[in-house]
Order: sequence, then structure tokens, then C-alpha cells
Amino acid sequence: MTRDQVASRIAADPQRPWLSVAKGWRSGLLIACVSVGVAATLRALLQNVGHFHYLPLLPAVMVVALMADRRAAAVAVALCVAADLVLTRSEQADAIVQAVVFVVVAAVVAELCRRFAEAVEALRDARDAVDLVQSPREQGPKDQPHGVWRLNAMGEMAAILAHELNQPLSAAAVYLHAGRRDAALAGPMGDSVTRSLDLAKTQILRAGDIIRHMRERISTGDHAIRPERASSLVEEMAPVFAMIGRDAGVTIRFDIDGEDDHVMADRIQIQQAVSNLVRNAVDAVNGRAEPLVLIVGRSIGPEAYEFRVEDNGPGISQDRIGQIFRPMATSKTGGMGLGLSVTRSIVESHGATLKIDRSTLGGAVFAFRLPRVTEAETAC
Ligand code: ADP
Repeated sequence: MTRDQVASRIAADPQRPWLSVAKGWRSGLLIACVSVGVAATLRALLQNVGHFHYLPLLPAVMVVALMADRRAAAVAVALCVAADLVLTRSEQADAIVQAVVFVVVAAVVAELCRRFAEAVEALRDARDAVDLVQSPREQGPKDQPHGVWRLNAMGEMAAILAHELNQPLSAAAVYLHAGRRDAALAGPMGDSVTRSLDLAKTQILRAGDIIRHMRERISTGDHAIRPERASSLVEEMAPVFAMIGRDAGVTIRFDIDGEDDHVMADRIQIQQAVSNLVRNAVDAVNGRAEPLVLIVGRSIGPEAYEFRVEDNGPGISQDRIGQIFRPMATSKTGGMGLGLSVTRSIVESHGATLKIDRSTLGGAVFAFRLPRVTEAETAC
């Protein structure tokens, strides 16, 4: 969700009506003038009916206290007194007594309104903070055309991340709210700090949205599986692989069967999976005399098309195979240990299995098979 979307969501939120509309001193002043102006007009009209004095002016002070800050409310009280003195022709002593009583009553009422507005804002911030990373609803398993998607390792990771990040993000939102209140006390000088704090809060909301979307996307298996040419899918990545190979001093070779290579695949996801495997292979051959990575694509009978990524690195011993798919399991400094768990999730969401073996090149081979479709089926 973009910053604008967050802003419009906040604006459209029925529980976020009119409190704290005036963020700056000038708009507070404007609200005070308009509110008292309207109330004074009403008061002048009511004068024909009876002596109401300050009563019709009190709502103006309440509106200002709710919508703006205390200084604006104080200005509103002063304007009310001035308006009453102009409109009422009472005895001087009487007018002073009435003005004093009004100032005291208005100050108490304004303070109560301010507290109410602050309490509502604090509640709203707390709700935003709690909403930050909560999943809107737990999504159940969903059938896919080529297999059943489950909340897999990556989904669990996202769920753990969402849960763990909820607390610091919520705390940050509360601290920002407190900082904003302090900055407001600094008057016009605090305006730019307030703006920066508002922007920071928007970014925190964005972080929560990103995590929530990631979790939703993974748990619903929201992807687009359609007929694709396996060869074009890999060829499109060739410039990227060439660059990776050049940077690492590794030869990356292609052996892709381009005949009868129509497969059912989510193009972006399969490209991500192959790319993860190639990056791992490139890391694995680091330090070899003639580092080599081979990307193979083969039709395996009428049913399947196999992708293989092989290397001449050290390979993976049987006892390590169970560990390397665990999220965060890495043997690299600076490694995240997520590549293989994501890759396996992608492959399994296509109804396939990611297999590991020893390559004839000497290192590891990672392979998976996608369901093939005929050219005629592709046209349907
Ligand atoms: P990362 O690359 O961040 O470590 P991965 O999940 O992609 O995370 O890989 C986990 C571990 O699996 C790697 O740290 C490495 O030890 C091992 N591994 C992955 N691919 C290979 C390979 N081709 N050859 C040898 N080891 C590999």
C-alpha cells in the first residue's frame, strides 16, 4: 500500500472522523475564527428571542478544542468574549462577571474536549498498531490446478516474522505518537518535526502492510500457472546468469531442449526458483580450479519437462540434505538460509518435488519436473 493509499484509507476511515483536523497553528487559528464567527452570528440571531449571552458560543469552543490544539481553543475563548462584549449592551460590571464565568467554564469544557480527542487518537493509534501485521483472516488450504498448496516452510517463516515484528512495530507506533504530542507542544517550531513523525508513522504502517501481504500471498498460493515455453523461460534469464557468472569467475553453461517444451508454470516463480539454484551452485563452486555450473532442460516423456542445475562443487552429503531446506540454515557468512526453502515451496506449489543428487560433474544436482502440455492444449 502506498503512502497515498494509507492517507486515503485514514481519510475514509469512518472511525477517524474530524478529530485533530487542524495540524498546524495557522489552520487552528482559522478554525477558531470560523467557529466563533458562526456561533456569534447564531447568537446575534437569537438575541431577538431572549438573552442567551455565552451559551450559543460554547459549542464553538468545543469544536475548536476537538479539532485543533489548546492555543487555538484559547483564541476561540478570547474571540467569544470579544463577540459577547460587542453584541451585548449589559452593564460593565455584569459583562465582566459573565465573561469571567464563561472563561472558567469554557476552559474546563475545552480541556475535557481535548482530553477526549487525545484519548480517541491514542485508541486509534493503538488499533492501527495492532492492525499493522495481523493477518486479516487465517486462510485455509486452497486447491491449485497442479497440486495442493500448503502453509509451508516459507509460510511459517512469514507467520513467525509477522508475529515477531508486530511487537516492535506497535511499540514504535506508540513512541511516535508520544513524540508527536511533545512536538505539538513546541508550537510552530515543532511543525516540521511533527511532519517527519507523521511520515515515519506512514512508513511503519507500510512495513506492516508488506508483511501482511507477504503472508497472504504465501498462504493462499496466489500465483498464475499457465502454459509457458520452458526454453524461453530460462533464456530470458540468460543475461542475468551471464552477469552472475562473470562477477564470480564461474562458467555457466546452458543445455536446454527447446522442442516440445510447453509446460504449466508460473513464469516469474519458476525463474526465481532456477535463479536461486544457480546462485547457490555458483557459491558452491567458489574456489574450484575450473568452476562450472550447468543448467539443463529436458523433456521426460510426454508428461514432464525436467529442469536441472548441476555444479562441480563439493556436493551435499546425505546427512546434510535434511538440514539445508530449513529456513535460516546456511553455511555462508551473510547467508539468509531462505533460498532453498523458497525454491522448494515454489516447486511444490507446481505439484512437483525438488530432488537433490550427486552430479556427474562432481558436485550437487538440484532437479524438478513440471507437467508438460502439448502445443494444441496451449492454444485452448
Ligand atoms: P543460503 O544460500 O542463504 O545459505 P539456501 O537456503 O539457498 O540459503 O542454502 C542453504 C544451504 O544449502 C547453503 O548455505 C549451502 O550450505 C547449501 N547448498 C545449497 N546449494 C548448494 C550446492 N549447490 N552445493 C553445495 N551446498 C549447497
